[in-house]
Amino acid sequence: MTDAQVESGVLAGEERMLIDGELCHSDSGAFFEVVDPASEQVAGRVTDGSVADMARAVGAARRAFDETDWSRDLDFRYHCLIQLHEALERNAERLRRILVTEVGCPVTVSRSQIESPIEEVEHWAEHGKAFEYLVDTGIHPTQLGPARRRIHYEATGVVGAITPWNVPFYLNIAETVPALMAGNTVVLKPAQLTPWSGSEYGRIVAEETDIPPGVFNVVVSDANEVGAALSADPRVDMITFTGSTATGRAILAAGAATVKKTLLELGGRSAHIVLDDADFNAALPMAAMMACVMSGQSCILPSRILLPRSRYDEGLEILKSMMEGFPVGDPWTPGVMQGPQISETQRRKVLGLIQDGIDSGARLITGGGIPENLPTGYYTQPTLLADVDPDARISQEEIFGPVLTATPYDTDDEAVAIANNSIYGLSGEVSGGDVERAFAIATRMRTGNVTINGKSHFGITSPFGGTKQSGLGRRNGDEGYREYLEAKSIGMPA
Ligand code: ADP
Repeated sequence: MTDAQVESGVLAGEERMLIDGELCHSDSGAFFEVVDPASEQVAGRVTDGSVADMARAVGAARRAFDETDWSRDLDFRYHCLIQLHEALERNAERLRRILVTEVGCPVTVSRSQIESPIEEVEHWAEHGKAFEYLVDTGIHPTQLGPARRRIHYEATGVVGAITPWNVPFYLNIAETVPALMAGNTVVLKPAQLTPWSGSEYGRIVAEETDIPPGVFNVVVSDANEVGAALSADPRVDMITFTGSTATGRAILAAGAATVKKTLLELGGRSAHIVLDDADFNAALPMAAMMACVMSGQSCILPSRILLPRSRYDEGLEILKSMMEGFPVGDPWTPGVMQGPQISETQRRKVLGLIQDGIDSGARLITGGGIPENLPTGYYTQPTLLADVDPDARISQEEIFGPVLTATPYDTDDEAVAIANNSIYGLSGEVSGGDVERAFAIATRMRTGNVTINGKSHFGITSPFGGTKQSGLGRRNGDEGYREYLEAKSIGMPA
């Protein structure tokens, strides 16, 4: 334990889950452990929710939607979400300690995972308050005479939110708060490696807000079957999910029987096209940093860098020196920007993919193993591979580690073709001296989002999501809010 942890006092998170307004333990009486990936020590425990607990939570959410005024009382929802915003602000430091402990997220980069989502709660409250739920589209001619038509936007119903471990608190908020503000009731199923970010959110809702019983439920569990039960339950109207493409496919299939509305934000293997007129000294250090920050455990990071052959060696040299000096270490140490991988299983997967890349002909420029000075904790060296074949497994699979793969190209068309050679289409990046040329390239990338010259596409007011097998639907922006609503057209006498 470090001094910062001792000073912080609280290490353990809430061990109970929230079902029907009650903070409770699983009927099974079982618990599972939360492991700190930086120390490899057990940090505490949490109740292990069962399929029966999930069924109870869905029943509570169904009743709260069908039998209370929640979906129709906009003013009350606004009141509750403003309360939630204030409550989360009061609990921000506790939530940060949980994030650093269960994810290994460096405290230095935790702002985007604590303060930003807390601010987003207020944003959604205001957005939902101002939203036009009733739109009169005027008089329409029909064969039976003129009809007035109105569009009424209504809550979808019971929303199941399934979240991953990489940015748990942020995604717990991003998947549930717009759903609640739009009038839905929610069952949240957090990832098994990061249950406290979810159980703590449940405690705050129960103890510090007027959100009624059943409107918001959290079921923590060590078993994938519990998430599967949520995604197959006929009483659930919609699933919102962030995670791997494989699990996304399973969720889509499970929802098919009851034609569930499904919002999916899945994997990525995004390309960064560096044009020959780019400012390498600005673009490449940033590219190396983006590959390693959060230990590469983010779906949107551009992790395939495409360099013009004419400046290939120059580019590799800049990337190498940045990666070799990258601050890796204990997440509580100020200045550290890359902590451990979330688990030994994940680290083994990352190291295995690196080896697979080398076996397929890639050249290891730096990294590729475990840092010698960090024998404890699931740390991985920042890794740069060059001459990477765009068709190789290392190019095609999501790595989720601090790994950047470099491939040379000769023409802009070839760069676009390599970028688009992927089952994924989440995001991308273009760096170039001529911004309009870079923009034209960005429009040719088959992805949901693109960053040009480091100017991020990502933010609460801009729609975010994937094309191809990176997902369905959008989060954020007005598009993101509408995902949780149904448009009902009503025809009436003119
Ligand atoms: P990873 O493989 O990296 O753990 P996943 O995409 O499998 O990532 O997990 C993200 C979330 O999906 C977690 O909350 C996990 O419990 C849940 N999950 C895993 N399998 C299923 C499934 N078959 N149905 C529904 N949810 C699932």
